Amino acid sequence: MYPCVYLKKKKEEFIKRRHPWIFSGAIENPQAEWHNRVVKVCNDRKEVLATGYYQHSSIAVKILDFSDQIIDVAFWEEKIRRAYEYRRSFGILNERNNAYRLIFGEGDELPGLIIDNYNGHFVMQAHTEFMYLQKKSIEKALRRIYGDQFLSFYDQSEYALPSENSSVPADTTIKENDLLFYVNWKEGQKTGFFLDQRDNRAILRKKYAKGKVVLNTFAYSGGFSVYAAAGGAHLIHSVDTSSKAIEWCNLNMRLNGFDAMHHAYEEDTFVFLKQAADNFYDVIILDPPAFAKNLQHKHTAVQAYKRLNLLALKKVKHNGIIFTFSCSGIVDKVLFFNTVVAACFESGRKVKILDYLHLPFDHPVLPSFPEGEYLKGLVLFVE
Ligand code: SAH
Repeated sequence: MYPCVYLKKKKEEFIKRRHPWIFSGAIENPQAEWHNRVVKVCNDRKEVLATGYYQHSSIAVKILDFSDQIIDVAFWEEKIRRAYEYRRSFGILNERNNAYRLIFGEGDELPGLIIDNYNGHFVMQAHTEFMYLQKKSIEKALRRIYGDQFLSFYDQSEYALPSENSSVPADTTIKENDLLFYVNWKEGQKTGFFLDQRDNRAILRKKYAKGKVVLNTFAYSGGFSVYAAAGGAHLIHSVDTSSKAIEWCNLNMRLNGFDAMHHAYEEDTFVFLKQAADNFYDVIILDPPAFAKNLQHKHTAVQAYKRLNLLALKKVKHNGIIFTFSCSGIVDKVLFFNTVVAACFESGRKVKILDYLHLPFDHPVLPSFPEGEYLKGLVLFVE
């Protein structure tokens, strides 16, 4: 019943490697009218190798399963349940923690779909129109899996009309590693909170915060600031250009009883760092937004990462610590590492690499889809 996309001879290899994308050049019979439709992927012997959805673009098919499937509510339920069971097996939902990424696109075999669970409030981000069109089925599947733990479903996709979310809650307070965070997905960035930094924030709290003066740049709602305080930091400064971010950052420090040792600045990080006193901050956190969103911006992004890291390397106290990140998928971990190394050389300071930081388990990275590993970071010791 679904149309068949025929792979060119020799292109079957792609499927064997289980990469979830098929480029239009690999297809014998591309058809613009299949846009947003489910298709079967077949070889020249007419065997069905996979089921996916078609897009009239250079990535023509995104694979939903490497088998012959019917894409109905039962399919969504099965896939989402598997993603849920995987997370549950790690004990993510407990008295200390009630938020996690439930669906991480390709990492959960659902390309184009992101769903975060904020203690029963589900926030979906469809990166493709096909996924947006499935939202009714996805919501049904979530209700079946979560039962009375399902509280609401908000569609944060660019395709959604405001009216679709009008009667859905827009915010809540979550618990992450025993710490409280106000999350507002309606007015916030992405799905409202950066769950991808959970483990890295925990490393800051556990190993590098006690008795320290900490500067958290690109602070957003203060994730790293709250963890630094929980780890025993003396003084914390948070910097962000967004007034909403500053408001939520202050709120989150207050929610956890840490407001006395905190000050937030609505300021550009580059300007702030240039004007900051030398040898004042023991720990500096650099977690900028993606400097490169596509290939054309790769070079300028690398320059920006280098400038940013160089500034921090110049300012950080002797025997200080820098947490440095990149969440640009286009800048892979080797390039990011080399860029930071270049900044280290230029700074003239002696540096040791203490930790390699990456995504937590609820953002699974597949060997067949290394592109999924967008977030990477380093902890540096600067003499
Ligand atoms: N570290 C945060 C997430 C950072 S998201 C966390 O753990 O939650 C990136 C943030 O950088 C956003 O809040 C955005 O407003 C801010 N931002 C973007 N450009 C900036 C700049 N030049 N200076 C300071 N903040 C900036």
